Amino acid sequence: MKFDKKQFLADVERVLHADYACDMKSAGRRELYNAVSKAVMEASFENWNREKKSFKRRCGYFSAEFLMGRAIYSNLLNLGILEEVGDALKSVGEDLNAFEEVEDAALGNGGLGRLAACYLESAASKDIALDGYGLRYRYGLFRQTFVDGFQHEEGDDWLKWGDPWSVRVDRDAVFVHFADQTVKAVPYDMPIFGYKNGVVNTLRLWQAEPVQAFDFASFNEMKGEIKATENFNATKITDVLYPNDNTMVGKILRLRQQYFMVSASLQDIVKKFKARGKDLRELPEKWCFQLNDTHPVIAIPELLRLLQAEGLSFDEAFGVCARCFNFTNHTIMAEALEKWDALALSDLLPDVYEQILSCQQKLERDGLDPNVFYIVRDNVVHMANLAIYVSAHVNGVAEIHTNILKRETFKNWYERFPEKFVNITNGITPRRWLLLNNPAMAREIDAVIGAEWHTRLSELKKIKPHLAELLPAFRRIKRENKQKLADYIAAHEGVTLSPDFIFDVQVKRLHEYKRQMLNALSVLYFYYGIKDGSVADFPSTAFIFGAKAAPGYYMAKAVIKFINEIARLVNNDPAVADKMKVVFVQNYNVSYAEKIVCAADISEQISMAGMEASGTGNMKFMLNGTVTLGTLDGANVEICEEAGRENNYIFGATVEEVAAIKQFYCPREQVEGNPRLKRAVETLIDGTFEDASGMLKKLYESLMTGYQPDRYLVLYDFADYVRVKEQLLRDYGSEEFDKKCLINMASVGKFSADRSVRDYAKLIWDL
Ligand SMILES: *Cc1c(COP(=O)(O)O)cnc(C)c1O
Repeated sequence: MKFDKKQFLADVERVLHADYACDMKSAGRRELYNAVSKAVMEASFENWNREKKSFKRRCGYFSAEFLMGRAIYSNLLNLGILEEVGDALKSVGEDLNAFEEVEDAALGNGGLGRLAACYLESAASKDIALDGYGLRYRYGLFRQTFVDGFQHEEGDDWLKWGDPWSVRVDRDAVFVHFADQTVKAVPYDMPIFGYKNGVVNTLRLWQAEPVQAFDFASFNEMKGEIKATENFNATKITDVLYPNDNTMVGKILRLRQQYFMVSASLQDIVKKFKARGKDLRELPEKWCFQLNDTHPVIAIPELLRLLQAEGLSFDEAFGVCARCFNFTNHTIMAEALEKWDALALSDLLPDVYEQILSCQQKLERDGLDPNVFYIVRDNVVHMANLAIYVSAHVNGVAEIHTNILKRETFKNWYERFPEKFVNITNGITPRRWLLLNNPAMAREIDAVIGAEWHTRLSELKKIKPHLAELLPAFRRIKRENKQKLADYIAAHEGVTLSPDFIFDVQVKRLHEYKRQMLNALSVLYFYYGIKDGSVADFPSTAFIFGAKAAPGYYMAKAVIKFINEIARLVNNDPAVADKMKVVFVQNYNVSYAEKIVCAADISEQISMAGMEASGTGNMKFMLNGTVTLGTLDGANVEICEEAGRENNYIFGATVEEVAAIKQFYCPREQVEGNPRLKRAVETLIDGTFEDASGMLKKLYESLMTGYQPDRYLVLYDFADYVRVKEQLLRDYGSEEFDKKCLINMASVGKFSADRSVRDYAKLIWDL
């Protein structure tokens, strides 16, 4: 975007006059933020409108979550005016950094929602016509604080600062019908700016509203109560994001959300397609849809229904759907694969349920064995099976994950429909995750190899012949980033860290399979080793954790409490003050992640092999030059292929070994043979930590005595984990170690979301 400072400041001034009746001098931060954002929105209108009016083939990315983070800096960067706007504001005594207080748009839980956000940005940057369709939750993922070491949740008021990066599009509102109510769906469109290429795609988020505005006439006639109830139910649909990551909670409100989202999106798309005078049988020539996990899969029967209402036969409608829909699977965990009670679904959405039954009947007509292939069975609707049966393509998100889908989770489907299955390894956008969060490093790289890597990340391999030259700058910048993170943590968590310490980081959702417990136990293991003198010369290390636990996930919350207790013990013990610090940061989110991934020395990716479909946090660290301490799980496998196993720190049972180990596994044996591990585990029950809640005891039981004790092989992998971790801590600081960091950065090309969306465009979307 061309930038004219005088024009820009005049635009900002004009918005301030019109919207807030104030000027630059009297504007508060919030007004200024909105005015700057709106001035930029206005200037990009023409590019956006051109894209919206074009009738090229598009893909709709249907997702219940978009974890966008803070929009302003990313948008200014992509428009190529980040520095210019900063300078313009400075010239009138304002500071662009003041907008760091603006809340993240956290309309997602974790990896799945962040992936959707990265894909939208990358598609726009690669001029691929991908539009997002989702929900405009009033409250995104809860804000997390710790009180006495326990997680507390507060509502996330992400609209507190206003929403200047969205426009409400009343003319595109549609109605969504449930058996018991009709709700108005109003879209809010957010522009998705490509990186310095003038492309603007759209994220369309639907908001639920009552059909009629509040009816004062009938209220006055004392019928008000009924109307008020209707209004309440309607807006409730998009009130709040469900805070569960990788688990299915069979709540009808969640089903309402899902149907509301896909029905509104498909009605909108069908309506506009028809308005072009097109035959709906030709819909697949202009549209395809990517279903981001099972959450939007109810789009399939909804499109079947809509097309038949427009006069197509079931077979014709099915043919259209079979060409339009594609399905991404994100997890093999049974507790995350969506299943709905057939009676509840048919009560809420009878016409949609009819279409699901018709799919089941077609499946039987096709001659598929209903004992092996089923969508509805024993009054349960299996959404993943519906998605696989109808979709043209089914993809996993890393090589190892797709192989597990083929060999195990969906073995029967794969054998019957092998041509549907493809792998598309996840990726991240290098704009947000290096250019924006680590600008000093980006400039150093530019100086050595030029700027082509901004949009072709594989170009980073060109730094390989220049490692020695880059090392001093890399060390200096990493240290500056660590100092900045330490300052931020001191201000927000009240823990002081020294940048001379090794920053060992595990940030991601809290889940048993991700094994924060493994890391936590190792901290105690080292702590007691230092205390009893069996560990000498322990390299000074800061153990940094960040994670939200689903509010109903008891074990996850127990792990948070445990780690906070460990932090209190360690940080208050002067005997280890120069050896270790432990901090669990509050409210880990995209903006925190941006600060953390460029300041880490160790990236902990330690899930039990076979459990983490891909991971994308691992890629963010790699992009910023951090070695992985991890298992051969998810994309870690491919990280090792790209960067060399010798440049990372791999431990633990492989996915093949896990199955065999579990057959005869006895956690007690692991602990009995390892006295310091035993001591660490027993802190859960021996009074080391106050445990009035009984949470720690439950953690102990889940490891040692409960049903399926130590399901995720924490104790089995422990010895190998600390062996490799100790090696890593010893290697740290050497020139050889720093080279490993840079080789990881140089080898990250495959994990650009630009590569991922091009794979989708080529293999699936035909864009
Ligand atoms: C990238 C990201 C994730 C995903 O992290 P994983 O380690 O892949 O689970 C989760 N939350 C936030 C805020 C992120 O930025």
